[in-house]
Amino acid sequence: MASMRANALLEAALQLKGTGWHVVSSNFGGKPAQMEIVMEHDRVDLRCPACEAQCPGYDAVEKRWRHLNFFQYRCELVAKVPRVNCPRHGVRLSEVPWASAESGFTLLFEAMVMLLAAEMPVSDVAQMVDEEDTRLWRLIRRLVDRAHAEKDWSEVKAIAIDETSARRGRSYVTVVMDMDTRAVLYLGPGRDSNAVRSFCEQLQAHGGDPATIRWVAMDMLHCYAKGVRENFPNAQIVYDRYHVMVMAGEAVDEVRRKMQRNGAQLKGSLWVLRGNHWNLSAEQQLQRATLAKTYKPIGRALALRSALQDVYGASKADGAELLRCWCRWAARSRLEPFKKLAQTIRQYWNGIVSYFDSRLTQGAIEAINGIIQLAKRRARGFRNFLYLRTIAYWNTGKLNIDTSAILPT
Ligand SMILES: [Zn+2]
Repeated sequence: MASMRANALLEAALQLKGTGWHVVSSNFGGKPAQMEIVMEHDRVDLRCPACEAQCPGYDAVEKRWRHLNFFQYRCELVAKVPRVNCPRHGVRLSEVPWASAESGFTLLFEAMVMLLAAEMPVSDVAQMVDEEDTRLWRLIRRLVDRAHAEKDWSEVKAIAIDETSARRGRSYVTVVMDMDTRAVLYLGPGRDSNAVRSFCEQLQAHGGDPATIRWVAMDMLHCYAKGVRENFPNAQIVYDRYHVMVMAGEAVDEVRRKMQRNGAQLKGSLWVLRGNHWNLSAEQQLQRATLAKTYKPIGRALALRSALQDVYGASKADGAELLRCWCRWAARSRLEPFKKLAQTIRQYWNGIVSYFDSRLTQGAIEAINGIIQLAKRRARGFRNFLYLRTIAYWNTGKLNIDTSAILPT
């Protein structure tokens, strides 16, 4: 493809008009066959990359970039990039419009890799685009780290903290999420107050102020509370409604298991008793009502759970008082699991009733956990925590990496 017309076509496709760059040749060659597009600069208007002042040329350095495939051909751009001699900044390589400095990929290729990495394991992306996976990881980490560092956290007021396993049953990581934007802000090793301190340091590095953190949602089982008290002076801990309801569900289950051990005919009743009645079929609802009538303790357990659900629907003015009533009822219920639940609620009272002020629920972070488990699979073969974090930030961090150029509009 040596004709002027082919060069003009490629120039248009690469959007070089007005940039001073021209396609001088293109060819197919090598084994396996690949396409090479050679470009030159007209050297009329050379500028320093640091101050954008017009500067005299110094020399030129040949560079190569991997570009989007041309049909089935792997495609590379080749150009002698002018170096300028800036009076203020010395000899500098000038910028090219199709790639960022120091990258061996064009911007379009980078955008495509980022889109693919959001959808499939990086090892699969590497196979698909025929590149070393370590090279792609370097690219992905560079773009994600930069976009993450640029995020402004000064508006963050409410966060949720939770843990997730980084490797099967072994190491744990702490996840912090902004409850307003639902973006994952932080992923760090460990699950204790040190993780909270480390997040606090990052918050400040991103322009945030620990004093503006008003609410922190978490579940009762973790040791994050100490870290929150130490690092966020104005934060109120919110023990999550979601976790309290999970405990109530477990209490119903325990009542059922105990009755079964004592000879009650409850085989197959597990799913009928679990969850909210509006999720059951008409037949299951009838079964549940019959069980509740036949086995009084099960009836009481179901009533207690559904009453607790109602308490969470109460207004800010009534919430705490209703919860107090509920605890008294549970304590007298003659159902050990519910007596224990009432004790737990009393033990964590302030954190639990603060839900009625904040209405913060951690359900979202549970969903994020699912995404992070997915990120783990995406980073497969790369056991390092940094790989997991990179993919998790890319999938859930709401980062600003522009991939629009290769998406259909
Ligand atoms: Zn300069």
